Amino acid sequence: MSRVIVVVDMEGAAGIVDRKECARTYPEYYKRGVLQLTGDVNAVAMGLKAGGIEDIVVCDMHGRGQNILKNQLDPHVKLVHPRLHDLDKFLEKECDGVVLLCFHAMAGTPNGFVSHTLIPFLRVRVNGQPVGETALVGWLCGTYDVPTVMVTGDEACIEEAKKFLPGLSTVTVKKAKNREVAQCFPTEEMRRLIEEAAMATAKQLSQYKVYCPREPILVEAAFRTPDEADLVAAIPRAKKTTARVVAYESEKYLAAFKFLSAATYLVVSSWFDEPLQKLTATDEGQKIFEKWDHQFREEWMREPQSLWYE
Ligand SMILES: [Zn+2]
Repeated sequence: MSRVIVVVDMEGAAGIVDRKECARTYPEYYKRGVLQLTGDVNAVAMGLKAGGIEDIVVCDMHGRGQNILKNQLDPHVKLVHPRLHDLDKFLEKECDGVVLLCFHAMAGTPNGFVSHTLIPFLRVRVNGQPVGETALVGWLCGTYDVPTVMVTGDEACIEEAKKFLPGLSTVTVKKAKNREVAQCFPTEEMRRLIEEAAMATAKQLSQYKVYCPREPILVEAAFRTPDEADLVAAIPRAKKTTARVVAYESEKYLAAFKFLSAATYLVVSSWFDEPLQKLTATDEGQKIFEKWDHQFREEWMREPQSLWYE
């Protein structure tokens, strides 16, 4: 039985024209965004099924996940919500190919729609070369001997994916006017292209190459502030090389990927300190926080009194 994993981001969806459509904090825009995203997921699923794939696992990876409308999703697919650090759990099992759906170009790419690498402001280099999410995820698949077989996204994203993962199938669904706005090609036509490309790809999965970076790995991460770099430098084996840059050396790419997953999680978590303080300064925010805090403390007080966990 053939199994394909579809790693889904959001920015590169056909029909998403405005960056606000990818952010929950703009509800009116975001509502439109999730509709477009779900349409692309259904299109790729239709194509994969038509190409003979029985087992389709869809990983909703944009932001904190939960971006795909379950009630409108093809019931044939299995929808999961891994975080970056446990994406590889799905690759460990038998898997014949990975599709990168609705992706975007790396941070700092001119004419990339909402170009970024994992989190806002971050820049990443692997072995001295700037890389984005297509390479980072494509190489993760490579470490499990799984080829990245197809990518969809804006023009800059597709160019980047072809450079790092040559030979994969591509569908360019739009062109950025600037970082915030894209000119989308006709949505229905793009969905048809996604479906057709997925079907053709599914029929020749064994033709695609597996890509891995040369090991050992030097990964460097440049952060928005020196404080963020200090936080990340607390991870064992990580070293600050300049005020804002942290380097991490490892024998294996998987360890470098896990470092990036942990580092980005740490940094994003630190961003919530400020809004949490502001929120708890309001009566309503304070009540919500107290309720959570009291439940947490009660759970703590009820914990079994053993000296160690098994
Ligand atoms: Zn995203």
